Amino acid sequence: MQPLSSFWSQTSSRLMNACPRLWALVYAKPHKRPDAPGSADNTRPRTLDELLTRTMRKVWRRRLTDLYNHKIWSPSYKLQAFMKAFNKLLKNSNLTLNSSLVSRKITQSMRQLERLEQTLSLRNIVSGDGGRWAYFDRQRPALIDGVKLYAAPDVAVFTHHRWTLVRIQFRASPHQGWYQVLEHMLMVHWALQQPGFPDNIEAFRLKVVAWRRGVWVEHEVPLSSTLMRQAFALVEHDVREAKWIERCALADPSLAALPLARHEMTCNICHHRKGCPAGNGLTEAKEEQRIRLVSLSEGSDEVG
Ligand code: SF4
Repeated sequence: MQPLSSFWSQTSSRLMNACPRLWALVYAKPHKRPDAPGSADNTRPRTLDELLTRTMRKVWRRRLTDLYNHKIWSPSYKLQAFMKAFNKLLKNSNLTLNSSLVSRKITQSMRQLERLEQTLSLRNIVSGDGGRWAYFDRQRPALIDGVKLYAAPDVAVFTHHRWTLVRIQFRASPHQGWYQVLEHMLMVHWALQQPGFPDNIEAFRLKVVAWRRGVWVEHEVPLSSTLMRQAFALVEHDVREAKWIERCALADPSLAALPLARHEMTCNICHHRKGCPAGNGLTEAKEEQRIRLVSLSEGSDEVG
């Protein structure tokens, strides 16, 4: 196994926090690096909700491309585009779904996309009055201090002499934590490295458009150089953790020494549950791992 190049992405960071063992299974392989072709979303959707979220992201991305090129979508074309993306993802999943639940959820997701177009942050783009704007592929990294940073905003809109970087979250937890604020800051780090964008943070504003409890909530995230520094410290911390996990995975490909998931919930929808020590219960597996690691360290103390 070759060493990984240093990278940071929101998906990788959240996965590492949720389960280091799972992170190693997903990322500690060269062909699973985030810049490998087709590596985004290359895992099978584990739930209907995940499938719908990915579908909405794909359709929205296509919609943005066509808006940018002044192509109009009719309501029937929107449905067609949604169903095409949905069925493609469904085909690659192993999900067995209840058809009436699926059709209800598709209707809800279509409504969610419709409402996204009416948000304050995006409606001018949709109506064609957006002025200067651009959209980005999250797979496009910026290289900062040797780290490939995958933190592109979804959209950037130029108004009142500043660029507003917009992050769209199709699923968001009810409350925004400190960690998420720092993640949003990374959009500015990313933008500062792009040709065509200004090179000072005063030229940017940050907005988040998040789906919370059935509505799109829009809010501005205050920017400061202190938060910017803290955000990059988060990246450096995650990169160090990733390297540690990778070294453990290289030293022991059974991954027996790697920490398991924080919460049972992560295991419940994990594709790697079969064959994982937590397959029959996370708490028991953690206890067995703890005992094994203690006895190993005692054994090595005696040898030393
Ligand atoms: S089953 Fe749980 S502990 Fe095992 S890899 Fe998956 S998330 Fe991690």
